[in-house]
Parts: sequence; structure tokens; C-alpha cells
Amino acid sequence: MTHCLHLVEPHRYNLYSYKMSTVSVIASPLRRAIGLAAVYHGSQRCFSSSRYRQVTWGFIGLGQMGFPMAKNLRAKLPTEDVLFVQDVNTAATKKFLEEHSQGVCVAQNVREVAEKSDTVITVLPEPHHVAGVYDQMLGTKAFSKDGSFTKDRLFIDCSTIDPMTSASVAKVAHSSGQGKFIDAPMSGGVVGARAGTLTFMIGAAPDLVDRTTKVLSMMGKRVLHLGDQSAGLKGKLANNYLLALNNIATAEAMNMGIQWGLDPKALANMINISTGKCWPSEVNNPVPGVIEGSPASRGYEGGFGISLMRKDLGLAIKAAKDANVKLVLGEHAKALYDEAEQAENCKGRDFSVVYRHLGGKE
Ligand code: NAD
Repeated sequence: MTHCLHLVEPHRYNLYSYKMSTVSVIASPLRRAIGLAAVYHGSQRCFSSSRYRQVTWGFIGLGQMGFPMAKNLRAKLPTEDVLFVQDVNTAATKKFLEEHSQGVCVAQNVREVAEKSDTVITVLPEPHHVAGVYDQMLGTKAFSKDGSFTKDRLFIDCSTIDPMTSASVAKVAHSSGQGKFIDAPMSGGVVGARAGTLTFMIGAAPDLVDRTTKVLSMMGKRVLHLGDQSAGLKGKLANNYLLALNNIATAEAMNMGIQWGLDPKALANMINISTGKCWPSEVNNPVPGVIEGSPASRGYEGGFGISLMRKDLGLAIKAAKDANVKLVLGEHAKALYDEAEQAENCKGRDFSVVYRHLGGKE
């Protein structure tokens, strides 16, 4: 049974025009020394009141990354704060609620998340998901009658999308006075999301950096401010463009040397103290057996999926085109990832599997 349990300050609640037709109020001396708590069972709406001030949070997108991030966030928030969660996949919200007996509420839709939260974090797959979710949240200006309150709402989008979509969402948020929107794409993968060690690259006005850093530090260990809104995404896409190319170049160079008869480990060791050294050669070498524990050494399982690499590369190429930036290598690399992703022996594997696709010896 879906249920939620949290506390909201009365005066704040009045700011929202909110229907409370299915409410049952339960006095709960256990929840707070002084205060009332309302608990809604069987309905996804919930509220309660207290003399104390709480902060409300929203989290949309409880997937591979979002679920553990929201978990870390909830664990670091004061108990009295409330986290509203939403995902189109109801199995994910159900699981999240089952794992958190207190301070979590499943919202009926993303609009409800936005209406009730001071800070909203989104972790969604692609640009069209982000555009769609923010359109539902910001589409009609119907939040609060108190404009000064809504202006302070902070939307942090951690999805990897293109800078143009991000900028257009930010424009709607800012021009309608419904809150501030910043981009905060991340690196560190699912392992980093679980461990709370992600790195965030943020694009935000200087006055939002401190507040955003405090929020993101509950889910990661580094927050890098790269400039104004959309700068985080530009940095992330430039980095992943380079990674996509380095990965292929490493696979080709290793394949070349091995086919010439060189020992794979000796070749990798030489490269890693020479000018060809890069992350794919040193940490994520695509040749099985060269680096113990790497995805390549375990059948290319785990790691950074080839479809995510392909997606990021596509976003980088598109964003470069939109800015009239000439790229020579990107389209060739993209064609290779497209092909490899379709191949039965590469699909769903770590992106270093391009070595296999090139016919490398395993
Ligand atoms: P995912 O597909 O596992 O999760 C996305 C979640 O969003 C899903 O649970 C989905 O149901 C939900 N969703 C989709 N549309 C929605 C909507 N309209 N309303 C509410 N929820 C909706 O993806 P992920 O691996 O968690 O990645 C999320 C983002 O993070 C992507 O942009 C990805 O590129 C980026 N990223 C992923 C990794 C990684 O290793 N997985 C690393 C860095 C960055």
C-alpha cells in the first residue's frame, strides 16, 4: 500500500492552493514534542503540521542514478524534512517508499512535486524527458500566489542533455518567476551514485553556487562551477566527447600492437608512461586481462554502457553543430558506436567493448 509520512509547516502550507479532500488528521505526540502530524494512507497526498520549520525537497527520476542519489539525500536530510519523489515507473517509487519509512512521500505527478518542494532535483534519461517534465512543472503559472516565495524555488537538473534544451527550460523557469534552474550533470556512474562520491559540473549564476553546492554535496564529493547556466553541460559534453575518442583510439592502438605481436600488458605499460596515456589506456583498458577488475577483464560487464557513451557523443556533436564548431572525428566515432551497439556481442556492455567490435584478440 502506498503511503507517505511527513511534516509541513502550517504557514507554508497555506501558500499552496491545494485540495485536501481525502484528509484524515491524526494527532501524534510522538512525531514532535509540539505539533500535529497528518498521515495519509492509501492516498498519495499527505501533509501534517508542526510549529517547527521544515524544508521540502523533490526528486524526479528514480532510475539507476536517481534512486541511490535520492537515498543518499534522504539519509543526510534532517529527519523532519520531507522528500517528495516521483517516477513514471511506479515500481521504483514503491521500492523507494518501502525502503524509507519516514520523511518520504510519493507525489501523484511531477507538478505536485514542484508545487510542494523548495528544491527539486531531476535525474532523467534524455532531453525530451527533461523538456516534458519541466513543461508539466512550469507550463502554467499556477504555483503560489506569493511570488516572492516561488522565486526562491531551486530546480537542479542532473540529467545529461544538450545545453540548448537546458537553456530553454531555464528561460521558462526564470522568466515566469517560478524558480531558478541550474544544470548539474554528473560523473562517477552508478558506483559513485551509490557511494555518494559523484562529481557534479554545474552551470549556475554565482549567487546560486553556495546553495547548490550544499545540496549536491549530500550526493557527491565534488562540485565544479563552470560558469553560467548550461556551462555544466558544456563541460560534461566536451569531456565525454574526448573520452569517446580516446576509447576508440586506445582500442585501435592496442589492437594494432597486439596484431604486430606485442604483449598486451607490456604495450599498455609502455603507453601509460608515455605520451599516449589516457583514462581508457590506464584505468579502463579495453583489452581483457590488461587491467585486473576492469570491465574488459570481466566480459565487458558493468562500467559505462555503450548506449550512454553513444548518447553523450551524439549530444556533443549536435551541440557543436548548433554552435558552428567544426568537428572532424566525432561523426566517425559515432558511426562506430552506433554499429557496435547493434552487434549482439557488444550490446549492453561497457563502452570499451569497441575493442571487440574492431576484431581485437581476447
Ligand atoms: P535511467 O533510465 O536508469 O533512469 C531514468 C529514470 O527516469 C527512470 O526511472 C524513468 O522511469 C524515469 N523517468 C523517465 N521519464 C520520466 C517522467 N516523465 N517522469 C518521471 N520519471 C521519468 O537513467 P540513469 O542511468 O539513471 O541516467 C539518468 C541520467 O544521468 C541520464 O541523463 C544519464 O545520461 C545520466 N548519467 C548516467 C550515468 C550512468 O552511469 N548511468 C552516469 C552519468 C550520468
